[in-house]
Amino acid sequence: MPYLTREEIEAFEPDPLPCPGVTAIGHARRVMKRSGNWNANQQMGRRWPIGCVALEITQRCNLDCTLCYLSENSEAVRDLPLEEVFLRIELIYRYYGRNTDVQITGGEPTLRRRDELLAIVRKVRALGMRPTFMTNGIRATRALLEELATAGLVDVSFHVDTTQRIKGYASEVELNEIRQTYIDRARGLPLSVLFTTTVHRRNFHEIPDLVRFFKANAGVVRTASFQLAADTGRGAHGGRGDAITPDSVAKQIEAGAGTSINFEASLIGHPACNRYGMCLEVKGRLFDALDDTTFIGRMLSATAHLDLPRNDTASVIKSFLWWLAANPRHCIPIVKWAARKVWRMREELVAARGRVNTISFLIHNFMHSGALERDRINACVFKVMTADGPVSMCMHNAKRDHFILQPISVRTPDGRKYWQPLTGKMRLNPDVAGDVKPEQHGLKRLKGLARQRLLARRSA
Ligand code: SF4
Repeated sequence: MPYLTREEIEAFEPDPLPCPGVTAIGHARRVMKRSGNWNANQQMGRRWPIGCVALEITQRCNLDCTLCYLSENSEAVRDLPLEEVFLRIELIYRYYGRNTDVQITGGEPTLRRRDELLAIVRKVRALGMRPTFMTNGIRATRALLEELATAGLVDVSFHVDTTQRIKGYASEVELNEIRQTYIDRARGLPLSVLFTTTVHRRNFHEIPDLVRFFKANAGVVRTASFQLAADTGRGAHGGRGDAITPDSVAKQIEAGAGTSINFEASLIGHPACNRYGMCLEVKGRLFDALDDTTFIGRMLSATAHLDLPRNDTASVIKSFLWWLAANPRHCIPIVKWAARKVWRMREELVAARGRVNTISFLIHNFMHSGALERDRINACVFKVMTADGPVSMCMHNAKRDHFILQPISVRTPDGRKYWQPLTGKMRLNPDVAGDVKPEQHGLKRLKGLARQRLLARRSA
């Protein structure tokens, strides 16, 4: 397996802007072709120039997950100045343009001031991009979600799972009580609701039950994302073992869905990184929506230019009907496909009086920080925006301290100064903090393995 060496990881730089005259989508197409991942079902370079870009607005968190991807120094890093967050939003726009999915994340983003959160969402929306809020849900009250939705938030993604060690909840099934609370908080808001679950050795067997729970809430939950545990970051849990692979997780999802799901019809970048499937939910039963790979590939290609906002079904239907009216040759294949689906779902459709929901399943396969596969890093579709440009999330996690401990150049009324991540103070020179030892931050600002090490030393 061609892994990047430690030297290559250390020398790795953020992506430069595409060359003048090359569009973001054209650049993505080149990347997919070069990496051998270009075919009729590939969405990158056809519909999207990027899967999504993470905007880390804080490194702090109110949990201490056993599989956390943050660094042992993260908790001691001050929140980026708002001006720098705005610059990074503008940078995302310069790289990828309108409709880019921007994940507002951290750490836990609700730890930032509410007025700043709202300003960040507004800024993303003002540039015509799609803000997604990634939260563990603890501080995401109904009032906050309402304000964020009014500010232009498109998706809210709740991360809930057993890696969070929430007292009184020993299994994923028990955690459904918390998930249900979050679903009820978001119900009725113009937000697309996602749930993220980290898959690890101790919850792998619970995936089918989880999928049944999401299916029962398909009217509100639009996407269930399963992220495979990766040995990266400060988490104390370690690797995932050999049994957890994108294939084995897909099988577990299918077991809970009660149907086979075609994860080949809509491809997002490298197949070893991402799997995507979509089902139609009718009267509590799921039906694979993308089971015809060739037809779906043709449709996705033909409609790649349409703007289809996830949180606005009416506008999706309207855009699609306008497109169909202008492209009548697609009518017959679509009617045939729809007739087959309706026939298969006929009993449920009658019982549900025609009500259909969609629910998508995503599998994301992050890499071990010591085993970054060159071709996947090169074809990465999930980036983090840094001060100097976007970087693959797997790469960012493998050298997080390099990015988060770097002083940030800021223009002030008194000239250029450098914001220091560990103090939050401005200095005249850009000195990079030397060898930072997590233990120097003290117990209050320590999480993960470093915290455990310090506690063990104190009790010895
Ligand atoms: S973040 Fe990692 S796993 Fe995800 S698309 Fe990029 S390289 Fe692949």
